Amino acid sequence: MDTVLIVNFSYVIAAIFFIVGLKLLSHPATAKRGNLVSAVGMFIAVVVTLIRQDILSYEWIAAGIVLGGAIGAWLAKRVEMTEMPELVSLFNGFGGLASLLLGLSSLTISDASDLHVALLVIAYFSILIGGITFSGSIVAWGKLGGTMPSRALIFPGMRWLYALIILGALALVVVVATQPFDMKWFYIAIGLALVFGILATIPIGGADMPVVISLLNSYSGIAATAAGIAIQNNILIVAGLLVGASGIILTQIMCKAMNRSLMNILLSGFSKPIEQGAKIEGEIKALSAEDAFYVLEAAQSVVVIPGYGMAVAQAQHAVKELQSLLEANGAEVAYAIHPVAGRMPGHMNVLLAEADVPYEQLYEMDAINPRMDSFDVAIIIGANDVVNPAAKEMKGSPIYGMPIIEAHRARNVFVLKRSASAGFAGVDNPLFFKDNTRMVFGDAKDTLNTVIREFGD
Ligand code: NDP
Repeated sequence: MDTVLIVNFSYVIAAIFFIVGLKLLSHPATAKRGNLVSAVGMFIAVVVTLIRQDILSYEWIAAGIVLGGAIGAWLAKRVEMTEMPELVSLFNGFGGLASLLLGLSSLTISDASDLHVALLVIAYFSILIGGITFSGSIVAWGKLGGTMPSRALIFPGMRWLYALIILGALALVVVVATQPFDMKWFYIAIGLALVFGILATIPIGGADMPVVISLLNSYSGIAATAAGIAIQNNILIVAGLLVGASGIILTQIMCKAMNRSLMNILLSGFSKPIEQGAKIEGEIKALSAEDAFYVLEAAQSVVVIPGYGMAVAQAQHAVKELQSLLEANGAEVAYAIHPVAGRMPGHMNVLLAEADVPYEQLYEMDAINPRMDSFDVAIIIGANDVVNPAAKEMKGSPIYGMPIIEAHRARNVFVLKRSASAGFAGVDNPLFFKDNTRMVFGDAKDTLNTVIREFGD
């Protein structure tokens, strides 16, 4: 049979694996299988691509597989669960870089002056979007890991530079499409893209970062699609489209979670500086883990609100143990999950699934908020921004308008964290000063283990 036919038929099979894998990934119970199915699809795609006749150098490919595989295996072993969001950001970035290099190579492997103008323009876009994705993701990696400040960074004249680069990039498309082929236009595009990726990401900060990360994920897919068209590889086009489309859907979900439009988030850093909001009045009241136990022992209904600190403390197993003790004691236990809690979409769901918390006990923000007054105790485990009532009460606060889990409406609120410091968005939290709130200071896992021990005595 014709090799091209076999290759394209296998690509269709690989694409089906990708789609089924994505579908399975949408539920925690099937997510692991989804990952495996998608990986099998990718394996088929890679093997089939290697049997194509127009491979230039198997040696270079083998070297890439060995080097990339070794780095991947080393990273998978070394990276802590809490560093996963940064790693995902790096993956997005390197996806973008790969598309940039593919776009470039599509121009250099053959005599590019013979290429159809449409292919030149497509290669230009794969270079441009790939470059933006790469440098933007590196900035996101820095902001997530704390190498860079998480707040919005702006400098005088930034918006003009931003506008100038957009105009420059648009003018270059016209040049590429109308002028005789010259590699230098593409090198300029790389420069513009790298600077634009940085400029587009640094002014977005704090609680808006989830939107940027899902958007960059989507860009990496769009760049891959453009690269797929440039090198005329069908599976790359399909895989890129799937990543691009799912990234855009996730971006929409994240925007909805923040109650903001995408434009509003992307341009937020360019609006006038926001004040922190009014000074918070009141006093912080601390409670020991032992005293928290007495209240929990008497509670009939408890809502657990996890956040990034649960991931840092790796407290999910202790949470599950406390849940079992509370239930054995006759209390109802529910979990309230904010869509942007933690540092990556679904972060809390993954951790709680790892600890075998039943999925039916996890409630989304809109489902749990109307019931919040009915809970005897809300236990906040390392969450901060996602329960910050400044989002509802303090006009002028950077997070004003963001929907939150309304923990402050429960009868008693226990906040398990190490200090009264701000969360990722850097905004002070009036919840800590409320009459019904008690701060249980310390590492969340240690605190939970103390409460668990008290139940045993
Ligand atoms: P936050 O970052 O607001 O707060 C986490 C809190 O955990 C900190 O205030 C910290 O307080 C506490 N903490 C850290 N370590 C421990 C520990 N060992 N034990 C107990 N507490 C600990 O987290 P949230 O989940 O409330 O909010 C997520 C934030 O991250 C939002 O602003 C969101 O927009 C942003 N974000 C989310 C992404 C996503 O996709 N989900 C991606 C990027 C950003 P202390 O130091 O006092 O202990």
